[in-house]
Amino acid sequence: MTACTAPVLVVGAGPSGITAALTLARNNVPVRIIEKETQHRRGQRGAGIQPRTFEVFHFLRAPEIHERATPVLPIQEHKRGSLEPLQTFSMIDYMEPTPAIPYSNMKLMGQPTLEAIVREHLAKLGCTVELGTRLISFSQDEKCVRAKVVKHRGDDGEEVEEDIEAAYLISADGAKGITRKQLELTFLGTTREDDFLVLGDIRLEAEALDRAYWHIFGHMSHDLITLRPTDELGKDGWRFVMSSRTTDLEGLIHDEEALVNRIKDFVGLGDDFTVKEVMWTSEFRPNMRMVNKFGVGRIFVAGDAAHVHSPAGGQGLNSSVQDAFNIAWKIALVYKGFSPESLLDTYTAERLPVIAEMLGYTTEMHKVMFDGSSGAKSDLEPRLRRANNVYMLGLNYRSSPIVVDEFAPAPVAPVAHGAYGEVQEGVLRAGDRAPDAPELVSVVSLNRPGMDGSTRMFDIFGSTHHTVIIFAP
Ligand SMILES: Cc1cc2nc3c(=O)[nH]c(=O)nc-3n(C[C@H](O)[C@H](O)[C@H](O)COP(=O)(O)OP(=O)(O)OC[C@H]3O[C@@H](n4cnc5c(N)ncnc54)[C@H](O)[C@@H]3O)c2cc1C
Repeated sequence: MTACTAPVLVVGAGPSGITAALTLARNNVPVRIIEKETQHRRGQRGAGIQPRTFEVFHFLRAPEIHERATPVLPIQEHKRGSLEPLQTFSMIDYMEPTPAIPYSNMKLMGQPTLEAIVREHLAKLGCTVELGTRLISFSQDEKCVRAKVVKHRGDDGEEVEEDIEAAYLISADGAKGITRKQLELTFLGTTREDDFLVLGDIRLEAEALDRAYWHIFGHMSHDLITLRPTDELGKDGWRFVMSSRTTDLEGLIHDEEALVNRIKDFVGLGDDFTVKEVMWTSEFRPNMRMVNKFGVGRIFVAGDAAHVHSPAGGQGLNSSVQDAFNIAWKIALVYKGFSPESLLDTYTAERLPVIAEMLGYTTEMHKVMFDGSSGAKSDLEPRLRRANNVYMLGLNYRSSPIVVDEFAPAPVAPVAHGAYGEVQEGVLRAGDRAPDAPELVSVVSLNRPGMDGSTRMFDIFGSTHHTVIIFAP
């Protein structure tokens, strides 16, 4: 393939698309990002942000994502129709930060807030999401990608076509996107027909409902409603999720009265509970599927376009961000002529095994959550408790073709360990996550900004360069 100086085209402005665009823009690679919707999307969706994702946004110089995210609240379980707590528990153990792991806990931030923060950084770099612009087809050759898009103009619904030439195309167009299909990538897996979820954002008047807890009413294997307070939607804002094995919830989002009555019935506060506004609703049927490869030629898929899975474990958005960061820094190096194009093949080589493992792991969590019944009055805690390997800190690329480990103990131990394995502080192999190390002091005057006082590894690492670390004997 030969060099092309046209911009990189990113399709879709969800978490994958904006992360890819920000990584490219930080690297001074010209980028256009298009989004078919005419307005930025609403809805909390995947709100659990994992430590490894905070690290990516640290390297992308978007610290507000960690600063503004809020702690995961303890869960309070109730019987259907009663506010009396059956039990209160934490979904996951709190982990103290360490010098090596400064972001040590999952936190919550709704997708609209996260996306808005990233868009602000993009805007400062001169890149704006082109709303109302839909990819309809594309072709590619040795030199470039040619994409046909339709642009929505004004309120009268006028549409105009544009042909865009792009050096590369990152397709972050979500689970229902067209790119994966047009590239003829497979998307094998299963659909959990019975585990239909209805979710949404609402405003409530309900003084008795304590905003210090994530409330769950009902039983996971029958009928359930969760209510999580979130100030992102206002002081009376809540995110709800409902599932049912006894009632067909399909279509409920189109019947606001029935939806509100169902929530009222589960909470059981009678006239002391009012749904003031249904702000956003959606339906979700868990699919567990992934592609057979993450790209063809100059076109790559990222995020939900490449894999979909259960929301159990909160890995969806987080895996999408990792995909996007992985392909975008590689495209930046190739685009600028610093690396051969073979680097781009490592995107599939690195992400495919991680995603396959994540799919297996989240599917297991999903089964524990939804399947079977112990018959116990309360068995929510074992269904919802998470080990902290969901933090993705064990995610590694030990088996990547660009990783060489000359210090591997002999006889050579198997190189790969699971991405969701235990993180052992003090054990570090080539391809692992590089730990932070604070309070580093320069022993020679480097005369570089940020090196006058102490610094930390995480401020030396970044999305625009590689760091060579030489350990003095
Ligand atoms: C209703 C719902 C609930 C969810 N709940 C959870 C959860 O609780 N936990 C969790 O971890 N994950 C959850 N997820 C998944 C999580 O939201 C996704 O993993 C994450 O949004 C993936 O980001 P993405 O950028 O890859 O795709 P998306 O967020 O789907 O973004 C894709 C974007 O591409 C745009 N697009 C599509 N086609 C085109 C085109 N032809 N041209 C231009 N633009 C296009 C779309 O409009 C969209 O904005 C949920 C998803 C949904 C839909």
